[in-house]
Amino acid sequence: MSTPPLPPELSALLLDAMTDFVIAKDAQSRWLLANRSARAMLGLDPLDWLGKTNLELAALSPPIVRAVLTSCQQTDEDTWAAMTSVRRTEAIPNGQGGFVYFDVLKHPVFDADGHPTHMLVIGRDITAQHQAQQRYEETVSQDELTGLLNRRFFQIRAQQWLDELDPEHSRKLVLLMFDLDHFRAINDSYGHERGDQVLQEMARRLTSECGMERMLLGRLGGDEFAILVPGGDDPAVLDFLGHRVKELAARPFSFGQLTLYTTASTGIVLWPDHGRTITELLHQADSAMYAAKAQGRNGHAVFSPALAEQQNWRAMLLTALRRGVNENRFYLVYQIQQNARSLAITGVEALLRWTPPSADLTAGPDQFVPLLEESGAIIELGGWIMAEACSQLARWQAQVREPVTVAVNVSSIQLHSPCFLDRVRTALALSNINPAFLELELTESALVADPIKASQTLDALRDMGVQLALDDFGTGYSSLSYLTQFSFNRLKIDKSFVQDILSDPSDLEIVKAIIAMGHALGLEVVAEGVETQAERDLLDALGCDSFQGYLVGRPSLPAEIAPMLGVGLI
Ligand code: C2E
Ligand code: CA
Ligand code: CA
Repeated sequence: MSTPPLPPELSALLLDAMTDFVIAKDAQSRWLLANRSARAMLGLDPLDWLGKTNLELAALSPPIVRAVLTSCQQTDEDTWAAMTSVRRTEAIPNGQGGFVYFDVLKHPVFDADGHPTHMLVIGRDITAQHQAQQRYEETVSQDELTGLLNRRFFQIRAQQWLDELDPEHSRKLVLLMFDLDHFRAINDSYGHERGDQVLQEMARRLTSECGMERMLLGRLGGDEFAILVPGGDDPAVLDFLGHRVKELAARPFSFGQLTLYTTASTGIVLWPDHGRTITELLHQADSAMYAAKAQGRNGHAVFSPALAEQQNWRAMLLTALRRGVNENRFYLVYQIQQNARSLAITGVEALLRWTPPSADLTAGPDQFVPLLEESGAIIELGGWIMAEACSQLARWQAQVREPVTVAVNVSSIQLHSPCFLDRVRTALALSNINPAFLELELTESALVADPIKASQTLDALRDMGVQLALDDFGTGYSSLSYLTQFSFNRLKIDKSFVQDILSDPSDLEIVKAIIAMGHALGLEVVAEGVETQAERDLLDALGCDSFQGYLVGRPSLPAEIAPMLGVGLI
């Protein structure tokens, strides 16, 4: 005895009991079945809906439902064409400005000959899930500190943005990536909370004052930010954007009595010119930002293939330099300094050189010192430089009547490294030279980076009896406060002023002012980069105390320096 089939009214009861909606239509999209959930959702009950097509029903319905049924006609057609089940999430306006989200499965049914017979539709309201998902995304996408997008979501959203565009025809996009120069010093000197406040304020400035109608803002980590904006490749636009960031970062950060200053280095890339994906773009922007830093920070660089090549070279050089520290590839040359009045050679400056493993890695200190600084290798190497220079001086001093000073350049990160003072003590102890004959050359950037710590370190050096010179004066902040606040013995006028002193009246004025200021503070003033007799005569007339430059002597190996110091003459 065969089991009788389930009576149709029971099937209908079952379907009506379901919270999911169920709809069945024929091949012409005529509605054959709609369960209670479906009827409630579309407000069908008052209508004579049975046997009507999607579009006929749409005509009878209020606007929101009409729009839903019209788009339903389109998805029905797509599903027939696909000849297989299609599942998608559909957003339907809820009439209150929001949306109701449905997970909808459309299943086309075909007869044995492959002709369409029915369309079965099952759907479920997933609004609650969707909202939870959105809330979750908001939480995980946000950088907690600044409220900007975090790195991962900046990448996700930016990629979504790129995916919507057509590389051939869409307007170009500009990606700016920047970080704050010497931000670590703010953290170190004033604490992480202050540092966090600077980052928050920076984020606020970017959000409210960037002046872009559409942009994506992210904090990629640490003090690194990214901005994606529609832009085009007009160099003026890129310049404008670069300057905007520079200006926002350079504005003082005030916290009650305390005012902090920083600057930003920005890398700029274009989509699609410099990369099609956000990963590529961020990579290139990073190179450009690096280039901006190499160009002296507080500025921007636009990516170019030449820049990328330069970046590659720098990366190769960096690897070779790191290795070079262990391979003893570094050595020192010395450049003499002459007193303007007595004409005696009073000192030498130790200058670092390196023997590259291959000719293509030939580089001067202007190129390799910044890399050694960025990689931190200068800390270790700097200790060696100091010890080597001191012991060289000890050898010379043993042979000359008039003692000379050896000047050693000290990088900012070296000065601020915890082992610095120990390294100085060790160099002095091993060479057994009088500390008064060691002169450390510092630049203003080493002082601004962290004035409080710098002043403690400088005091300790003074206590040891070491001499201090302020190097490259005139190129940096040239703030009088540095000269008065820190007790230097000598001021070195940067060679860029000396070079143009005869041709550029404003450089002449600057040099005059530096000499006057130095003397007023009781400092000895040294001119570096003196190449011609005419320059020397002029500097002499202006009251400069000592000269250093090709005119007096080029940087040379110790053996070549010895005769100039009178070694072997006595
Ligand atoms: P700096 O401390 O300003 O050194 C003076 C630079 O001027 C040297 O360049 C020197 O060779 C060059 N110079 C000297 N006289 C003349 C001249 O008459 N005309 C011209 N055009 N140049 C002259 P160098 O040796 O290439 O060093 C460049 C920079 O690299 C140095 O500038 C210094 O900032 C850095 N550096 C060099 N050695 C060391 C080191 O041992 N430690 C650290 N931290 N930095 C170093
Ligand atoms: Ca120097
Ligand atoms: Ca200098």
